[in-house]
Amino acid sequence: MRYISTRGQAPSLSFEDVLLTGLASDGGLYVPETLPQFSHQEIASWSRLNYADLAHKILLPFVEEDISSSELKTMVDETYASFNHKAVAPLIQLGHNEWVLELFHGPTLAFKDFALQLLGRLMDNALIKRDKHLVIMGATSGDTGSAAIEGCKHSNRVQMFILHPHERVSEVQRRQMTTLLGDNIHNIAVRGNFDDCQQMVKQSFSDQSFLKGGQLGAVNSINWARIMAQVVYYFYAAVALGGPHRPVSFSVPTGNFGDIYAGYLAKKMGLPIQQLVVATNQNDILHRCISANQYQKQGLVQTLSPSMDIMVSSNFERLLFDLYDRDGVALSELLTGLNNGTVNSLEPMRWEKARELFSSHCVDDETTCEVISQIAQQHNYLLDPHSAIGVEAGRVCNQHPEVPMVTLATAHPVKFSEAIVKAGQVVPPLPSHLTDLLDRPERCEVLDNNISKVQDYIMSQL
Ligand SMILES: *Cc1c(COP(=O)(O)O)cnc(C)c1O
Repeated sequence: MRYISTRGQAPSLSFEDVLLTGLASDGGLYVPETLPQFSHQEIASWSRLNYADLAHKILLPFVEEDISSSELKTMVDETYASFNHKAVAPLIQLGHNEWVLELFHGPTLAFKDFALQLLGRLMDNALIKRDKHLVIMGATSGDTGSAAIEGCKHSNRVQMFILHPHERVSEVQRRQMTTLLGDNIHNIAVRGNFDDCQQMVKQSFSDQSFLKGGQLGAVNSINWARIMAQVVYYFYAAVALGGPHRPVSFSVPTGNFGDIYAGYLAKKMGLPIQQLVVATNQNDILHRCISANQYQKQGLVQTLSPSMDIMVSSNFERLLFDLYDRDGVALSELLTGLNNGTVNSLEPMRWEKARELFSSHCVDDETTCEVISQIAQQHNYLLDPHSAIGVEAGRVCNQHPEVPMVTLATAHPVKFSEAIVKAGQVVPPLPSHLTDLLDRPERCEVLDNNISKVQDYIMSQL
C-alpha cells in the first residue's frame, strides 16, 4: 500500500517511510492511497478473535509492503500483552443500548496507549532494519506525552523531546511524563498553551535545518501509524455487539480529530456504523463547523477535560481531503484561508457531506460534572470527564435508539481528579503499577514560548 499527502505535492511513500517521516514535505498529512475493504462475511468471521489477533488482521494490509505477517504478529502480541485487562478493550453496559468501551487499560491509562505502544515497536523495528536514529518531537495536552514516552522509552535509537503546556496538565499526567528518567527522554514545559506547543512542533517539522542533518519523527496523530492502530477497536466493539449484522453507533470525545477519524475509516473499510458523534468540550470549533458550517477560531479556554483543549485539530485535514475529492491543491487553498481567517466555512456541498457522516455536540464543564455524578449514582460507574462528554453527546445526538451507542472511554478517571472531585465523587486509587507515582523524582525543563529557545535546547541535549 502506498501513502499520499493531503496537499498533493509530496512523493508517495511506503508505510515505513511514512512512519518515520511524520509530516509530508509539502506540509500535508499522509493517508493511504486506497483503503482495504472487508466483506460482512469476513468481519463476521472475526467474532472469536482476541484483540491482538484482530489487530493483526486489520493492520496487515496497511503495512505488508514493508513488514512481514510474522513480524507484525510479534509486535501486536507484545503491544496488547502490556495492557492490564484480559479483554484489552472491555465493553461496559450503562443502560439499554448504551455502552462504554474502556480504552484506558494500557500503561498510561488513556486510549493513546493503543497506538503508541505499537508505534514505539514499529519505529524501533524500522530503525534497526535501516540502522538509523531519529529525533522525536511531540506536543501533548497531557496524555500523548506519557503514552509516547512509555511506548518509546526502551528504544536506544530515538531521542525524544515532548513539549507540554506549563502548569496546564494535571499532576498525574505531568508525573507520568517527568518521572521517566531515561537518557533518551526529555520533557519540556512551555510557558504557553497546547496550540503553542503544537505550532512549534509543526514549524520544526517544516524546517528541520536546526537539527544539522538529523531526522525528525512524529508521535502526534499526524503520524499515520497512530490512526491506523485506532481503527481496530471500532471493529472489536462492533463485532462484540452483533456486528456486522447489526449496525453500531459511536460517540467519541474529540480533540485533534484522530480518534473519530479512525472510526470514519472503519466505516469506509466496510464496518456498518450508523452514527459517528463528535463530542467536544467548550473548545467547540469542530462542533460549530459540523453543525452550522462555521469554522472560526476562538480563544482557547481551559476546561476540566484538558486533553481536548485544542483549537486547531490537525486530523480534520485528513477528512477535508476526502470531502474535497482528494484535490490537494484545492485543500491547500482552503487550509490557508481557514488558518489566516479569510475563509470561515466549507463549500456548502462539502459541508453537506460532513453532516451526513457526523453528528456533533458541545458539552460544558458544568454538564460534564452533572453527567459524571448522574452516571455514578444511577449505574455505580465512574466516568472520566472526557468520557462523560462522550456519553452526553451520544445521548443528545442519538437518532437511532434501536442501535447500540458506544462511547469511547478515553481515559481512566484517576487521571482527572479535579473533575471527579467537582462532581462530588471519590477519586479512585492509582492502579498498582503507579502507586508510588507521587513520590518519584521528576525531570523537566521549563522554557519560554519561543521556538529558537526550544530548538537550541534540543540541540544542546543531542
Ligand atoms: C487525546 C485525547 C482525546 C482526544 O483524542 P483526539 O484523537 O485528539 O481527538 C480525548 N480524550 C482523552 C482522554 C485524550 O487523551
